[in-house]
Amino acid sequence: MCALQYLVDSPQRGVLLLNLDYKVISANHRAAELFGIDLNELIGSTLPDWIKTQPKNFTDVVEEVLHPRSQPEVVLHRYSGPIFGSHGKLAGRVEIYSDITARRRLETEILERNRELAELNKRLQETQEELLRSERLRTLGEMAAGIAHDINNALGIVLGNVQLAKRRVPADPEYARCIESIEMAARDAADTVRKLKEIGRPVDRTRYRPVDLGKLANSVISAMTPEWEKQNKHIELIAQLEAGCVVEGDEAELREALTNIILNAVQAIDQRGTIRIAVHRDGNRAVLSVSDSGIGMNEETKKRVFDPFFTTRGSSGTGLGMSMVAAIVMRHNGEIKVESEEGKGTLIALRLPLIG
Ligand code: ADP
Ligand code: MG
Repeated sequence: MCALQYLVDSPQRGVLLLNLDYKVISANHRAAELFGIDLNELIGSTLPDWIKTQPKNFTDVVEEVLHPRSQPEVVLHRYSGPIFGSHGKLAGRVEIYSDITARRRLETEILERNRELAELNKRLQETQEELLRSERLRTLGEMAAGIAHDINNALGIVLGNVQLAKRRVPADPEYARCIESIEMAARDAADTVRKLKEIGRPVDRTRYRPVDLGKLANSVISAMTPEWEKQNKHIELIAQLEAGCVVEGDEAELREALTNIILNAVQAIDQRGTIRIAVHRDGNRAVLSVSDSGIGMNEETKKRVFDPFFTTRGSSGTGLGMSMVAAIVMRHNGEIKVESEEGKGTLIALRLPLIG
């Protein structure tokens, strides 16, 4: 009974002894204090009704967390178990109540801190990835600037001569097809060089004007609708364009970015599907998003979607579209987010600083 005696006197824990009728036959001051009643009143009474769990059998052990009615903000841990006298004879039950409010608060605080840490870690990782991405794009841009001029000159000569040859081609369909192929390949190459140059282009603030994203989206949609009608795709287009979302930017670049994102969405849809284009404000940012119900991306593609030359579309892709979009968004001090699930679809969202 030594340990029990110690507990009965404990200033920390409330201790009760119950007889075989669940009546309190002994209690310490701390128990009365935690229960919010007088010690004399406690002794001889049954347990108050805010203690809900009663053992099914007298010998069962019960452990639970409770709030005393008199102090609902206090968190109590309750241990209730049988005690045995000499010869193992059942003597009654002991109830031990510990105030774990401070511990609980600490636990919640630690959990909160852990959540904050995880959030910070995630943001750090995203920043690192973004830095890496911008570094890669910068290197590529510098390289592109160096070669674009020469390649463009060469392509100019090829295309100029194609025009001349076209006029003189005899009525041989085989020749005509060759010339046609040369022209198409040279135009594709010119488009690749144009995209490379676009990635490497420095910020030119003199070209920046207020751009209404809703109006921009509307005009891009009108320009692109024939694109998927031509491809015989049944695409339901939903546009939710909030008025007055104006950002400071290069209209041609922003148009190019949106065109590329929508083009990818169209390409991701096989036969029929939905593309939703939305513009709305979120605090001091404008959000321009395009979501599609297309094939979606696997984890690997999602990670590499902004890598220059990364494409899953074989020879029909350049892998420069999204790199160019990322470069344009970076030049506008914006952020770009990709959410995608294989087989379900993709959402690309641009966040750009609003004017004013
Ligand atoms: P490209 O279109 O020439 O392949 P991009 O840079 O535009 O290059 O896109 C890179 C890759 O990202 C695509 O090949 C495709 O795998 C993936 N991707 C981009 N947009 C989408 C989309 N809306 N749905 C599914 N995959 C996409
Ligand atoms: Mg593309």
